[in-house]
Amino acid sequence: MNMPSAQDDERPMFDKVALIGLGLIGSSLAHVMRRENLAGRISGAARSEETITRARELGLADEYHTDPAAAVQDADLVFLNVPVGAMGKVAEKIAPALKPGAILTDVGSVKAAVIRDVSPHVPEGVHFIPGHPIAGTEQSGPDAGFAELFENRWCIFTPLPDTDEEALRRLTAFWQATGAHVETMTPEHHDLVLGITSHLPHLIAYNIVATAADLEEVTESEVIKYSAGGFRDFTRLAASDPVMWRDVFLNNREAVLELLGRFMEDLSALQRAIRWGEGEKLHELFKRSRRIRREIIEAGQDTAAPGFGRR
Ligand code: NAP
Repeated sequence: MNMPSAQDDERPMFDKVALIGLGLIGSSLAHVMRRENLAGRISGAARSEETITRARELGLADEYHTDPAAAVQDADLVFLNVPVGAMGKVAEKIAPALKPGAILTDVGSVKAAVIRDVSPHVPEGVHFIPGHPIAGTEQSGPDAGFAELFENRWCIFTPLPDTDEEALRRLTAFWQATGAHVETMTPEHHDLVLGITSHLPHLIAYNIVATAADLEEVTESEVIKYSAGGFRDFTRLAASDPVMWRDVFLNNREAVLELLGRFMEDLSALQRAIRWGEGEKLHELFKRSRRIRREIIEAGQDTAAPGFGRR
């Protein structure tokens, strides 16, 4: 499935790759770059000394910086792996230090807002290709990463109209070497698709956990004790990084509000069906949901094992 990687002739695919942000995504990129020989040298940047110290212990990079501009010096490929709301500020900081001809990309969960915030800072001769790997877990920080995170997952590019074809080809080869499949679409379409497949499910999960926590008639210890009834499956999503998700909702406002409107109409229809005892309606809808679950498994995007493979 992987493209022939740079390993074939023992030379790394890129001479130097800079990872700005060493959390779940940044550290996973570091692990897979080592495994697949994708970078001759990795430089890593994070905000806090704490993350730098831990990244050093884990051996994620060859050099470490708290100043992102220092990290991108001489880098052929630069990844922005910071929360969506921080992308613009980081791009502004690194812009003067970017090497002419370098590829600048990001992994942000929202695309139109990242393009809006980053593009104005990209110097002439640097190829900015926005991207988003549809792969993650509810964990964050430098310990959370693993080399297999992108295996058989999709990475979506939302290239700008004047994107350099050779740069796009090289970035595509990089992501394919991580085990990912690559797809291209417009930023607006990306934000709508991810709005329904990722952002709205997280919002619903955060909300149901909040509702349960605020119930007065059912104690919190009961919610926890009986969570295997279904509630615990929402708590995985609701345990995701609060800063990352705050930024997603602030930066994909229109798409999320549009989808939320549709969702609330459908929820009202369900409420009505329950109130009026319309069993046939409920049955039809639940049958359709089962089919979608089967299609996700057939597409290799989840395990067929019961309970998501829990024992
Ligand atoms: P993470 O584990 O929380 O790591 C975030 C990294 O960004 C940390 O190294 C942090 O440095 C740095 N950072 C945070 N705020 C910053 C700021 N204001 N300025 C500079 N650096 C900052 O996050 P992640 O899960 O890897 O997510 C990174 C990006 O990937 C986000 O844009 C997210 O939308 C996207 N993404 C996430 C997932 C997922 O499931 N998690 C999946 C696909 C894409 P310190 O540790 O020093 O604070």
